[in-house]
Formats: sequence, C-alpha cells, structure tokens
Amino acid sequence: MPTPRRSGRGSRARPRRAGRRAGGGASRFDCQGLWIEVEVEKELGFNNKRQIEEFGIDRFVELCKARVNTFAALQTEQSKRLGMWMDWEHSYFTNSDENNYTIWAFLKECHTRGLIYKGHDVMPWCPRCGTGLSNMEIATEGYREIRHLSLTVRLPITSPGHDGEDLLVWTTTPWTLSSNVAAAVHPDLFYVLVEAADGRRSWLSRGSQPRVMGDGTVLREAPGRELVGLTYAGPFDELPVQAGVEHRVIEWDEVSDEEGTGIVHIAPGCGQEDFALAKRDGLAVLDPIDEFGIFRDGYGWQTGRFAGATDDAATDLATDVAADLERKGLLASRERYLHHYPVCWRCGTQLVFRLVDEWFIAMDPLREPISAVTRQISWLPAGIGLEGRELDWLRNMSDWMISKKRYYGLALPIWECVDCAAWEVIGSRDELQARAVAGWDAFDGHSPHKPFIDQVEIACASCGGRSRRVSDVGNPWLDAGIVSFSTMGWNTDREYWRDWFPADFITEGFPGQFRNWFYALLTMSTVLADGPMTKTIFGYATVLDEHGEEMHKSKGNAIAFDEAAEEIGADVMRWMYAAANPAANLNFGYGPGHEVVRRFFLPLWNTYGFLVTYARLDGWTPSASDQGAESARTLLDRWILSRLDSLVSDVRRALDAYDAARGARAIEGFVEDLSNWYVRRNRRRFWKGVLDDDKRAAYATLHEVLATVTGLLAPFVPHLADAMWGNLVAAVDTSAADSVHLSDYPASIPGRAQPEIDAAVELAREVVALGRTARAASGLKTRQPLATVRVKLPASANGRLSPDAATAAELEAEILEELNAKSLDVLTDASELVERTLYPLLPVIGPRHGADVGRIMAATRSGDWRILDDGGAEVGGVRLAADEFELTARARPGHEVAESGDLLVALDTQLTPELEAEGLAREVAHRLQGLRKSAGLEVSDRVAASIDGPPAVLAQLAGHRDWLADEILAVALDLGGEADLGPSAAVEEVSLPEGSLRLGVRRA
Ligand SMILES: [Zn+2]
Ligand SMILES: [Zn+2]
Repeated sequence: MPTPRRSGRGSRARPRRAGRRAGGGASRFDCQGLWIEVEVEKELGFNNKRQIEEFGIDRFVELCKARVNTFAALQTEQSKRLGMWMDWEHSYFTNSDENNYTIWAFLKECHTRGLIYKGHDVMPWCPRCGTGLSNMEIATEGYREIRHLSLTVRLPITSPGHDGEDLLVWTTTPWTLSSNVAAAVHPDLFYVLVEAADGRRSWLSRGSQPRVMGDGTVLREAPGRELVGLTYAGPFDELPVQAGVEHRVIEWDEVSDEEGTGIVHIAPGCGQEDFALAKRDGLAVLDPIDEFGIFRDGYGWQTGRFAGATDDAATDLATDVAADLERKGLLASRERYLHHYPVCWRCGTQLVFRLVDEWFIAMDPLREPISAVTRQISWLPAGIGLEGRELDWLRNMSDWMISKKRYYGLALPIWECVDCAAWEVIGSRDELQARAVAGWDAFDGHSPHKPFIDQVEIACASCGGRSRRVSDVGNPWLDAGIVSFSTMGWNTDREYWRDWFPADFITEGFPGQFRNWFYALLTMSTVLADGPMTKTIFGYATVLDEHGEEMHKSKGNAIAFDEAAEEIGADVMRWMYAAANPAANLNFGYGPGHEVVRRFFLPLWNTYGFLVTYARLDGWTPSASDQGAESARTLLDRWILSRLDSLVSDVRRALDAYDAARGARAIEGFVEDLSNWYVRRNRRRFWKGVLDDDKRAAYATLHEVLATVTGLLAPFVPHLADAMWGNLVAAVDTSAADSVHLSDYPASIPGRAQPEIDAAVELAREVVALGRTARAASGLKTRQPLATVRVKLPASANGRLSPDAATAAELEAEILEELNAKSLDVLTDASELVERTLYPLLPVIGPRHGADVGRIMAATRSGDWRILDDGGAEVGGVRLAADEFELTARARPGHEVAESGDLLVALDTQLTPELEAEGLAREVAHRLQGLRKSAGLEVSDRVAASIDGPPAVLAQLAGHRDWLADEILAVALDLGGEADLGPSAAVEEVSLPEGSLRLGVRRA
C-alpha cells in the first residue's frame, strides 16, 4: 500500500467502511475490475489482451481472485495494526456472488424502467487495456500534460468560384486526418481570405489571422455562415475508405478561434462531438482503428500502424502523416504543442477515441431524483461546498457507460439474441436458471464470472432463438456502489436490510469521489430505495508528503504503512489524521509526525508518568478513602476539574458532529493546560513528604483528569489509551472495565463546570504571560525578585482578579510566584505606567479631513486627544476612525510594560539592595542544586555545603542563609569560613556579576 491513508485507487484492495452488521462495521474490499487485471497482467508480463485469451480466461480469473485474497489479508492485518475497528471476520468482498447478483437486480430494475441501452458512440479508449473508459473515470484523474505534434493543414475548396482557395484547419491528433469528412465553422464568427507572400490564399477566422498568417494580405471577409456548404478536397482522398465521401463545411456553435484557425477538422469516428455532429448533419462516419489502436484495412500506408502517439519519433504516426501531407502540398505548418491529454488511469497509456458498442444507463431521467437524494444527506465538512460539487456533477453528467471489454469483473447480465439481436436483462441467478436452455451444468457451481457464466444460453423472448450473454464485464463502480444493498442482505433478507439502511456515516477522500463512489452509491440508492444510502458523507482532502508534494513510489517519497507504523507508531499517525482539517490536504511525513509527538504525546506521557511515579512512591491508589480529600481541593484542583468537564462536553459535541479535528484540538489544548499549568504549579504538593489531605486531593484530582482524558482519547489513539487505562484504572479498580474500549465514553458531571473559576484562572494566566513578556524585554533574570507588578485589568473584571476574595488572593499569590515579585497592584488607569502617543496617519486623514488636518496635528502635539470606546479617537474635537491613526505606548521610567487588548501588565524594574541580595541568593541556590546533581546526589540526600568568595558578596548572602540551607537540604552551610568538606566534596568555581564564588557540597 503506497500511503498510510486507507484510500486512493493506488491501494491494492481497499477496506472501506460500508454498511454495518450487528456488533460493528464490516469492511469492504474492492475485488474485481480492470485494476486487478492490470496488476496480474504485469505479474505475467503481458502487454495486451490477446495474451490473456491465449493464457486462458479461467486461469487468468483465478489468478485475479488469488491476488485479491492475498492483498485483502495483508491489508486486514495493516488495518488491525492501525486500530481500525471492523468486523474483520465478516469482511465483504465485491467479487462475492451476493454482490454480483445484487448488481444484477439493480440493472434489471434499470431495464424495467427503460434506462438500459446499447450505444454506438465514440468513447475514450485505452489501446493497451483494450477497453473503453467511462467519462467519470477520465474526468477524475485521467489527464496529463503531454506535448504532441500538431499540424495546420490546407484543404482546397472545390466549390465553384473558389479556385485556388484553401480552408486552414488545425489538429493536435494527426492520426484522425485520414478519417476527416467535414470542417466546422462558427456561423457568427468572421472569417477572412488571406493571401500569403507565396500567393497561396487561405480562409481562417479573423481572430486567428494575426497569429497564424499575420503577414498576409486580407482579400475578403465573410461570416462563417457564408462558408457553410462549401465542399473541399480531403487530406487523404486517395484512401479506399474515403471513396465516395463528400467533404463539406458545416456549422457548429462550439467553434472558437482562441486556438488554431477557427475552422475545426471533423472526424466522426474519432471524437465524441464529431460523432454527434455526424448524426445531426448525416455525415459519413469512418471507423479507423481496432481495439488495440491499430488502423484497419483501407487506410493505405497507415493500415497496420498504431494510431496513438508514441515517444519514439521513428514509430510515431504523426511524423509520417506530416511528411505525407507535405509531399501532397497540404501542410501549412507544424509545431510541438503542449496540452492536457487523457491517459488511462490504470496503465498510463495515452487514450484514443474510437467508435464502439457499449452499454449505458440513461441518466437524464435520474438526474433530478438523484439530486433530490443528494440534498437529503449531510455533507461534511460543512461549508466547503461538497454537496454543491456533487450536484454540479449530476447536472453535467452524461449517460453512465457500464460495460468494459475485459475479463475479470461483474458479468453484465445482458443476453442478446444471435438471430434477431433482441436483448434482455436477467435479474437473478434463479431467473437465469429458469430461462437457461444450455450451459447451466457447465456454469453451476461457479461464481458468476467469465468464462463459465458465458456458457449459459437462454431462449430469445422475441424469436425463440438462442441468446448469449454479451461478453462485456461491468464498470467497477457498480461493484462499489451496490455496497449499501449487498452488504446488508437486500437480496436475501429485506427485513434485516431495512433495519440497517441507511448507514449513519460513510467516508472517502472527496477530490475523486463525486463522479465515482459517491455518484455510484447515490445512483443505485435512488433507483433501488428512492432515498439516501447514508445520513452523512464525510469527505477529506488528499494526503501529500510532508513538503506538500504528491506521494509516488517512483518519486521515492511514498511511505509504506508498515514502515510508518514502525517509525512513528499507529497512534501518532491516527492523531495526525484526526487533528488535521479534513478540508485541506494533509502533509504526511516523519517531520510532522515527530512534531506531533513533541507537541502532544510527550506532554501527555510525561504528565501520566509524573502521576504514576509519585503515586507509587507514596503507595497511593484511587479509593474511597480519598473522599476526605474532596474538601481539601484547591482552587487549581477545582479549576482543572472544571476545565475537564468543559473538555468532555466539547469533545462529545465535536464527535457527535463527526468533527474529529475539533475534538483532537480541544484535547491538545487541555493537555497543554494540564501539563504546563496545573502540574507545574502543583509540583510541590506532590513532592512534599507527608501524604496529607492536600496531597491526596492533588493525587485524586490528577488521577481523575488523566483517567477521563484517557477515556476521551480512546477512539483517537486506541493503543495508547488502552495502555494508560490498564495502569490508571483497570489495575486499581476491580469494578472497572478491563479495557478502555469496554468502558462508557466520558460524560459531563452536573455542577462540575465553574465558569467563574475558569475565567479568573484564565485572566491570571494572561497576566503571567504578559508579565513574562515584560520581564524578557527588561533583560532581568527570572531569578531576580521584583518589588511590584502593576496590572490594569479589562473593564469587565471590575478591578478584581475574581469576585471571590479568596480566589483573588490565591490567584494573586500564583501570579507573584510565577513572576517572582513581591506585591501586586491592581490599577484602574494605566496612564501612570505608560505614556501614549497618538500619530495621525497623514496620507489617510488628508483626503478625509481636508481642512481639519491642521487642527488635528496641533491637538496631537498639545496632547488634546482621547481614545473612544469604539476604538476611534477624538482629537481637538475631531473624530478619527481607528484606521486613521496609530497609537504607541512607552513605559514610564522604571517600568517594563506588556499589553494585550485592554489588559496591561507593568513590572517595576527598580531594584533595592534587598532585592538584589535575594536575587543573588536564588542564583547561588540554583548553582548549588546543579552541583548536587552533578555530584550524583539523590534528590533526598542531606548535604554539608560551603560558599566562599568576596566579603561583600558573602554579606549579601548572609541574610538568606537559612533559606539557602533549606533549599539545598543542607544540614550545615558554611558561609565564608574555611570549612573543610573533605576529599569527597564536589567543588565548583562560579563567576557571577557580583564576583567569583567557590561552592562545595558533600553528602552529610
Ligand atoms: Zn490502460
Ligand atoms: Zn431473437
């Protein structure tokens, strides 16, 4: 499988969530069709269809089936590894009898309604695969940029009065010129007769003349309708097939002169629009090539040659056509022309267009009914126009070509009379058996595939003669589209089917499916059930490599599923997909994978590890005895539980709306809050020695949070969540489910959410964030305590961090600790902290305020201005809009300021000797801790320590001696003495701005 995402026609066999069976979803494998044949042909080294017939169709079909089984088994194992929850014992294979016979029933229903017809039409054709492609297959992914030899050709007019005049036509498919029968002009476009320097006179459109014959002289001018009916000599009139063909100028509204000459060469056997024009005007139709793209008899030197373009100029037919025309004096010019050209989406061969008999479902009568069904479905993601894109396809689709001239696929259940050509559609195996007059015994016991099904003959209902099955197989989208019926027993147990139909949800990549899977499902569901096959369709964009390039094996940037599962793990892949915006392409690769690990998985895992480590040290397990801890819960405990409750509601809402990305992002945000605020702010509670109620409250809170998050994570990262659950819940609670996947999804707890606490903590965190910004700007070290933090709160806060005094006090303490400051002042006016300057934007106000500009500028200088509530300003009595000025803020001396919206935080940056001494003590404590660590001491080891250095520095530290000793767990701290700590001491010289110190530490 080329990419880790379970989609894309590149997959060997795709499980796709289809209908549901009791107990879980069943997975469907696409198991028949050309794409498998192409792979088996490659294995066998075949180049064309004839080799399959020589090999034996029965053996070939067996190999196709075997290949499907191999890859389905492989993909089942990969899907399990990815944690896909499916009823794998009941996976569904589209080559099953039930699938094929349900499609028969669908086609029979179409036939009963008169929708099936045999069409003689020009179709896009793969000359390698030897089969036509439906328009939807080409529209989806079948174009490539290719350079072809294009020719401008002279067609001498033979009508009287036009002696010496040529029509100029242009073609990018020179092989079709030998089948030319007409030249089309737009009736209302103007055409000119131009004489070139060599005296030759040519007709072409006026618009194209400067480009094609710019240096010629215009002799005449006429609207296209005046040219209609003229006859001309064809470019290959000498060919036997051209005998008796009259070439004439016809009108066509689709002609334009943006490219070419404004006169279009028409070969009805080689183009769909050409064929339609031939039907309209009764033109001759030449049918030049066979199923391998080889010219038939009657085409002179071209007979036996391959019509399609080849990369080798020596064998490229176009080169020889150009030479032939040049010899006949008919070639005006040639160029290499780059254009969008259709290719076979299975094998990459350039397509040709050829005349064929194919079977179709007439879609006109279904256009409106399918559109109505489409509108009943919820298309997600909402707001990106998925429903509109499907409706757009439905408005423009042509009839559905359901036949393929191949071997391994649905046997089209159409039997055609050998004698009278009457045909009918058989709707079931039973019907076939009842009607069979020959071959039943040869078929009985086999699946309804070639070659055995072709043995069965029935009696013609019209003439009583022998009817044989048409040898075509079905379009593979029939296989994919019938799933909502065949997987749920529509054919065999209609009651069961009714219980499950329609599905709740299906999902596929949307770029390709409007014309394919979604379309086939909608069509079949409209015909068989007159309603939607699913309530919801969830589409997602394309998976690209991490640089946004398409993944290709040949480019070397494809990542195999197993490799990715080894490198970053299935859960990380799942999280990347789940958290991605499904409307945008996903850049998948190890870079983004490791980024997800860093951003989400590590903080989650570290938080989990933190709880487990300390709970084990304390022998704490969640139990009823923690009830007493409930009342000991701190503000932050109640805050994180309130946040948790909102998270549960948010994730539930998101998943109910099939919005995994919103749920995943909510969880990521929560884990960030949990690890970076709750756990960090609470570390000391977990570290302290006694297991008191406060510590129990902390354990109980963190445990509940993690157990709940684990539950929320279960559908996103099933492996990780189950491992965490096993340890956090199942191992300590005998009444709990053994697996997180057997437990109920977390639900909100009434009364848990406390919006006022959420708001207060949020405000305090914003103050801290701005305070950190200001400290970074001031250049003062984090360890340097500051005297005062001044805060101007938003008006909505009413001048308080919280309406609750205790909460406000607790948050104030949090802020001061985080910002390492002594006191907090809450201000109502920031003007004593910052000096604001208003700069009117002259280029903007000039045109708008004209005469008032002088007044505005004067008022600005004198400070006669104020900011209005709407964000504008009043300046000297003139109102300025928000976009008419800039406002800058400069901190008053001795402050550093940061602001966001109407929240402003100012740090008092003036240091007293006391503050400097405390900052020094903290720095020294930090260095001593480092020394402890590098000396290999345990966290709990008691030490003896010494500090020596300049007397002034020691004097600064003296006031903090007890604090320092506590910090480093020193039972003895020698400050400036000559205490000999002995040879086992770790010693370090450190250089600080205040002076050099000699630090020593040894285990006490
Ligand atoms: Zn092909
Ligand atoms: Zn008949």
